[in-house]
Amino acid sequence: MKKRFIAGAVCPQCNSQDTIMVLIDGDNEKVACANCDYEQAKPEPETHSSRPEEEQVIGIFKPE
Ligand SMILES: [Zn+2]
Repeated sequence: MKKRFIAGAVCPQCNSQDTIMVLIDGDNEKVACANCDYEQAKPEPETHSSRPEEEQVIGIFKPE
C-alpha cells in the first residue's frame, strides 16, 4: 500500500494541516488522516479539483 501526503490539506475532522494522506492499494484509493481516525473512501484528486475560476471560464457563452 502506497501512502502520499497531500500538501496543504486540512483534515475536516481534527483540522490539522498536512496530516491528510492518500492510501493507494491497487485500484482502491482512500484518504486518511495521520492525526485522527478520519477516513474517506473517495479522495479528491488534486488534478480534478473544482476550481471556481475554471468553472467561470467554461460558463462563458456568446449569444448570437
Ligand atoms: Zn484528522
